[in-house]
Amino acid sequence: MSSDNYLNIIYLIASVLFVIGLKMLSGPETARRGNLLAAAGMLMAILGTIFLFHDKTHADFSSIETIKIALIAAGIGVGTGIGAFTARTVKMTKMPELVSLFNGMGGACAALISMMEFTHLHEGSVPPTARKFVVILAGLIIGSVSFAGSIIAFMKLNGTLGKSIRLPKYNLINNIVMLLIIGSAVYITAQSETNSIYMYCLLAGALAYGVLFVIPIGGADMPVVISLLNSFTGVAAAFGGFLYHNQVMLTGGILVGSAGTILTIAMCKAMNRPLTNVIFGAFGEGTVAAGAVGKSGGAVKDISVSDVATLMNYSKKVIIVPGYGLAVAQAQHVIHELEEVLEAHGVEVKYAIHPVAGRMPGHMNVLLAESNVDYNKLAEMEEVNPEFPTTDVVLVVGANDVVNPAAHNDPSSPIYGMPILDVENAAHIIINKRSMNAGYAGIDNELFYNPKTSMLFGDAKKVLTELVKELKEM
Ligand code: NDP
Repeated sequence: MSSDNYLNIIYLIASVLFVIGLKMLSGPETARRGNLLAAAGMLMAILGTIFLFHDKTHADFSSIETIKIALIAAGIGVGTGIGAFTARTVKMTKMPELVSLFNGMGGACAALISMMEFTHLHEGSVPPTARKFVVILAGLIIGSVSFAGSIIAFMKLNGTLGKSIRLPKYNLINNIVMLLIIGSAVYITAQSETNSIYMYCLLAGALAYGVLFVIPIGGADMPVVISLLNSFTGVAAAFGGFLYHNQVMLTGGILVGSAGTILTIAMCKAMNRPLTNVIFGAFGEGTVAAGAVGKSGGAVKDISVSDVATLMNYSKKVIIVPGYGLAVAQAQHVIHELEEVLEAHGVEVKYAIHPVAGRMPGHMNVLLAESNVDYNKLAEMEEVNPEFPTTDVVLVVGANDVVNPAAHNDPSSPIYGMPILDVENAAHIIINKRSMNAGYAGIDNELFYNPKTSMLFGDAKKVLTELVKELKEM
C-alpha cells in the first residue's frame, strides 16, 4: 500500500476521533475523555501529514526538508508549551478571554495559510483557476475577520476596551466596508490578479472589518458575536482543507464551523435576536454602554445570612440561579455544599441555567461540573421557568442581566425581548451580590426593588460559606 493510502486511512481515523470526541464533549462525565480522544486524532493527523506526506513527495531527506521538519517540530513544541501552560494556569474567570484568544489564533492560522498560498499563485505554467482564488480569498477574509474580531472580543471581555464603542453611522460604515471587501475579492478573482499588493489590501480591509464588526457590540449581545466568530474560524479552516485537498482539515473545519453555527443560532434564540441582524448590521442596536443606569430606583431590603438560612431550612423547594459573580467569587464548590446541606434537610434543590449566564457559552455548566454538581440538577431556562411559581426560595448568586424583568417590561431597555429566568414568580427572592452595581449590560435591575426580594450583600464565596455553616448548625 502506498504512503498516500496510509495517509488517507490516518485521516479517516482522525476524523472519526474528532466526531466521537465532539459527541463526548456534550456530557461532563465523558467530556475529558472526549477532549483527549480528539487531541489524539489531531496528533495522528499532524504526524501523518509530516511524515507520510513528506515521504510521498520527496523520497530522499534533503537538508532543506530536514530544516523544514525541524521548524515544524519547533513550532509544535513552542505552541504546545504555551497552550499547556496557559490552559493549566488560567483562572476559571479568565476562561472566556482565553477561548476568544484561541479562537483568534485559529482565524490567524487560516489567514496565514491563504496569504502564503496567494504568493504561490503565479508559480507554475498553468494559470490558477477561479476556484483556487475563491478558496484562498475566502480563507483570507474569513480568517482575518475572525482574528481581528476575536482580539477585540478578548479585549472587551478583559476590560481593556469599553463594552460598546460606536462610530457615527457605524452600521452604514460596516456594510460599506463589507461590500468593498467582497467587491475587491470578486475583482481579484475575475482578473486573476496575483500581485501581493492586492492580497495585503484585502487583508487590511478584512482586519478592519473584524474590528468594526465587534467594536460596537455592547450590552448583553456579546455571546452571539463570540459564537459567530467561533463558526468563522471553523469555516476559514475548512477552506484551508479545500485548498490542500486535506480531508482531516476539512472535517475539523466543518465540525467547528457547524458547531459554531448551531451555537450562534442557540445564542440568537437565547437573546431573541434574528441572525440576519447579526450578519447585516442592525445588531447591537439599542444597547447601552457599561455603567449606564436604568430608571428603577427605590428602596431595597437587605437580609442577614441567618435569616436566609432559616427561610431555606423551612422551604420545600429552592432554585439556585448562578451567574457571572459565582465564577468571579469561585464559589462553585461552596454552592454545591449548600445544595448538599439543603438536601440533607429535606429541601429539593435545582439550578436554573440561563444560556448566556456568565461570560462564555456553557460557562455555568462548566463551572458547576468542576465542583461535581449532578448534571441532572441543572435545568435549562424553558424547563425551569414554569417551576418558579411553585418555588419557595430563589437564590440568585452573582447573576443580574439574566433575571432582569426589564427584558419583559421595558421596551426602551437594551435587553428588551431577551428571554429571562422568571424568578419574580417565586415566593421569596434572595439576591446575593456585593453592591447595587449593574451587570454586563450596564443597566439597573428593578427586581432588586421587588417587595418579594431581599438583598444578601457580600462576596458570594464568603456569604455562601457562612450560609452553609448556619444551615449545618440547624
Ligand atoms: P451579569 O454580568 O449581568 O451580573 C453579574 C453580577 O455578579 C454583577 O451584577 C455583580 O454585582 C455580581 N458579582 C460580581 N462579583 C461578585 C462576587 N464576587 N460575589 C457576588 N456577586 C458578584 O451576569 P449574568 O450571568 O446575569 O449575565 C451575563 C451577562 O454577560 C449577560 O448580559 C450576557 O449577555 C453577557 N455575556 C455573556 C457571554 C456568554 O457567552 N455567556 C459572553 C459575553 C457577555 P456586584 O458588582 O454588585 O457584586
